[in-house]
Amino acid sequence: MDMEFQKKKLYEQMGISQRAIALGEAAEEVCRPRFERIDRIAEYNQMKVLKAFRDRHVGESHFSGSTGYGYNDIGRDTLEEVYASVFHTEDALVRAQLVSGTHALTVALFGNLRPGDEMLSPVGKPYDTLDQVIGITQQKGSLKDYGVSYRQVDLKADGSFDFEGIRAALNERTRLVEIQRSRGYSSRPTLSVGQIGELIRFVKEIRPDVICMVDNCYGEFVETVEPSDVGADLVVGSLIKNPGGGLAPIGGYIAGKAEYIENASFRLTAPGLGKELGASLGVSRTLYQGLFLSPSVTASAEKGAIFAAQIYQDLGFSVRPRAEEIRHDIIQSIDLNSPEGLCAFCLGIQAAAPVDSFVTPVPSDMPGYGDPVIMAAGSFISGASIELSADGPMREPYTAFFQGGLTWAHAKMGILMSVQKLIDASLI
Ligand SMILES: *Cc1c(COP(=O)(O)O)cnc(C)c1O
Repeated sequence: MDMEFQKKKLYEQMGISQRAIALGEAAEEVCRPRFERIDRIAEYNQMKVLKAFRDRHVGESHFSGSTGYGYNDIGRDTLEEVYASVFHTEDALVRAQLVSGTHALTVALFGNLRPGDEMLSPVGKPYDTLDQVIGITQQKGSLKDYGVSYRQVDLKADGSFDFEGIRAALNERTRLVEIQRSRGYSSRPTLSVGQIGELIRFVKEIRPDVICMVDNCYGEFVETVEPSDVGADLVVGSLIKNPGGGLAPIGGYIAGKAEYIENASFRLTAPGLGKELGASLGVSRTLYQGLFLSPSVTASAEKGAIFAAQIYQDLGFSVRPRAEEIRHDIIQSIDLNSPEGLCAFCLGIQAAAPVDSFVTPVPSDMPGYGDPVIMAAGSFISGASIELSADGPMREPYTAFFQGGLTWAHAKMGILMSVQKLIDASLI
């Protein structure tokens, strides 16, 4: 059997034209040396995770789970030790009761801030869902409502840190500095772990007692080091992104200094109860397995992002980051320049999905967003953005934010399908 011939036939049966296949082949050729680097990082991170499993003697008995109060849940407690080992921290809180990334960040913030304290973001405005948590947007129950003030120093126009602005913003009330690693849905560049380390050193020189917390969403296992390796006191993320490996059905993690983890645990359950409670129900095995797969899954998603950047920049679209840039998260944005372009792109990602491939995404109003948003997400886990997904607000320059892909072959197929939908709509 001529495998290449048969493979092209399969692509064609799924609606991919010769032209899209040829564009893909050209882009993949250019990407190959970059993929080698990603594979080496994935190998390193796989060994880091495997070593943590072996060191903590993970065994069959850790998978059974608990119900009710969840006292003495050895599987849950050992998983937290494994996370602490992977992130090189004193302790970790890894729970199904952390319902999302925003919730994990909220628990870490409310657990560690007190009335009269101030929180500082030295990297511009944090992720949108934190607006109401912090009180940037008026909301009852926000940190502001509890007497915690907020200050922000924007990045400079060239994306660098405004060190003088940060020095001026740090004051005797500053208790916690929140650093967001990924750009999220903004246009600023994603921070490398090295840059985060530089920022933390600067802050700690002025105020050694301030808590440095990193929103690590979308960044886990993209590099061989994590923010906790360069001085972060707390790192926080979502299990339906990178560290859940596509398997975790729910959850978040907070890893860091034991004192700050305890503070967070008192907020998650109750003061005095902390980490002792919280049944793992049936999810422990999946959280272990997802973490084990995560370095490889993250590498697949990153390859998809680089391939997407290459093929779309070759077609003349503006992409961030550029295909040749070293990456620090798995997010790719592509300016499609028209409503039709953004819709066709999302239609392609949806059509390539293993779930709901027959559904047509349409723009719709979303709470908290000014413009209608279009989303493509044919995922096994609802809303999991480590799975192949794309979304974008219906406004100039009609930017698609693309991320995820449980396997590289699937991420590639999604991108080829998006290109095909643009061809079908005569947009390229
Ligand atoms: C995804 C994300 C979050 C949290 O989002 P949830 O949808 O609540 O899980 C926070 N910060 C960043 C940078 C993110 O990418």
